[in-house]
Amino acid sequence: MKYYSTKGTVEPVNFQEAIFRGLPADNGLFMPEKIPVLPSSFFDELSKMSLPEIGFEVLRHFVDSEIPDETLKELVADTLSFDIPLTRINDSVYALELFHGPTMAFKDVGARFLARCLSYFTQKKSNQLTVLVATSGDTGSAVANGFFNVDGIEVVILYPSGKVSGFQEQQMTTLGGNITALEVDGTFDDCQALVKQAFLDDELREAKQLTSANSINIARLLPQSIYYFYAWAQLPDEAKNEAIFSVPSGNYGNLSAGLIAQKMGLPIKHFLACSNTNDTVPLYLWNGNFEPKPSVSTISNAMDVGNPSNFFRMLDLFDGSYQQMIKHISGYAYTDDSTRDAIQKTYALYGYILDPHGAVGYLGLMDYFRSEQGTGILLETAHPVKFKQTVEDQILRDVPVPAHVEKTSLEKKSIPFNANFTDFRSFLIDKQ
Ligand SMILES: *Cc1c(COP(=O)(O)O)cnc(C)c1O
Repeated sequence: MKYYSTKGTVEPVNFQEAIFRGLPADNGLFMPEKIPVLPSSFFDELSKMSLPEIGFEVLRHFVDSEIPDETLKELVADTLSFDIPLTRINDSVYALELFHGPTMAFKDVGARFLARCLSYFTQKKSNQLTVLVATSGDTGSAVANGFFNVDGIEVVILYPSGKVSGFQEQQMTTLGGNITALEVDGTFDDCQALVKQAFLDDELREAKQLTSANSINIARLLPQSIYYFYAWAQLPDEAKNEAIFSVPSGNYGNLSAGLIAQKMGLPIKHFLACSNTNDTVPLYLWNGNFEPKPSVSTISNAMDVGNPSNFFRMLDLFDGSYQQMIKHISGYAYTDDSTRDAIQKTYALYGYILDPHGAVGYLGLMDYFRSEQGTGILLETAHPVKFKQTVEDQILRDVPVPAHVEKTSLEKKSIPFNANFTDFRSFLIDKQ
């Protein structure tokens, strides 16, 4: 399979090159040249298949012969080593719980798959790869966990000191092994500037094989299609032709992955693009104008994105047609007050605890169902305990930390660092 740039000014590349580069040189986004339509026999068997089995069938077309089938099977099984259950909230709404992985957010799926693919190709070349990540919190923890103990890969995470949550810091700094956390005396922008400068430094790139684990890497996006199939398979038969997926969105990777699943033949009736007050995409869906703007802070902070990069993947999937896009996707945007209210009401009415992101998806379904029918599936993108205080203030009870992520005994290991490129450069050169 070849991957082209959405800007179309560079030659298409194979899967391996697309994932090592992350971004094409023309600053577009990589997209697969062909989206395969899966045979009806696959859909007939779907409800009998395990999550890794579905994952393999979905991904093998995109990876092609670049990773042998048997290896890809193992790699997918290792990526999806946790369940993604569909939980009924009420007669017409289900939550697809994407938070049962190590960092309790859906980004685990993409980060784990990317890590395993990079490791496979790196081992074939028998040299070490260094992954650099600048993070404001969530990406760092998903990448740290996704790459932990993966052979042939060193990860260096840069995060702004004092500006990430205690939970996120714990997840980035307690693993050790191949994960190094630099606690930068500065802002997220300072961290990002250091990483960008490192990639522009030819001598450094030569000395160290550097790559990024950027969220727009195609190997993070494609595996996210898998759970749309898995969710659909778990629906009662009578609901299978009326599935409405509500996707709480920031950079629109999750939604793009759902559109890919639909193109592969999954009979999804409609998508809801739900945002907080960072409503660039809902506004586009309402009026046809795409106008990026600076992001504003909200309680669903993983969706605080004013200029969502995957919008251009969405547009590409509809051949640039606004008219086609609005046939398949409706936009909704909500304030923090409505979001809090949804957390409170959903708990009071159904005993289900939503996190602030899932709550935004829930609100979208409620509005959609005012005029349309269907069975709603909201993507519950994070565990409510990640937003403990916000959630507990609404439901007035404790949200316990799930046993599999409780790591209170582990010690924080970070290296305090000044936001200075010369120091960063020497640090990377001297590392091992
Ligand atoms: C990243 C994230 C989102 C936004 O997902 P996109 O694919 O960027 O739209 C939503 N919820 C949570 C919890 C996230 O971490």
